[in-house]
Amino acid sequence: MAEDCLFCKIIAGDIPSNKVYSDDDVYAFHDINPAAPSHILVIPVRHLSAVNAAANEDEALLGKLVLAANKIAEQEGLAAEGFRYVINTGDKGGQTVHHLHLHILGGRQMNWPPG
Ligand code: 5GP
Ligand code: ZN
Repeated sequence: MAEDCLFCKIIAGDIPSNKVYSDDDVYAFHDINPAAPSHILVIPVRHLSAVNAAANEDEALLGKLVLAANKIAEQEGLAAEGFRYVINTGDKGGQTVHHLHLHILGGRQMNWPPG
């Protein structure tokens, strides 16, 4: 747990969240400010500041994150019509919370290029 990390506090239960999935390595919850009808954040339980802070030893963890997201997208009924994964990274990537999170966005047509 990293001190002063919002998402570590959510995992610890110090800040409430609307949980959709958890296991030993992954936690997922609804985004507080949804950008689509379905907007879920999938995060590693262990604090990792960003996707590009991952080391070789995090290889399995990154795989688990995506596989958990796939399961959640299926459970949320998004898989048939399609959805989008987003990992904002760094300031210009639009990352505002510095604990790795994969956004699952779905339930509407996604546009390209993204903003
Ligand atoms: P980023 O911009 O870093 O990729 O995404 C951070 C996301 O976290 C945003 O979509 C924002 O709405 C969400 N968020 C920020 N604070 C909270 C919170 O306290 N609870 C929940 N559930 N989501 C949050
Ligand atoms: Zn954290």
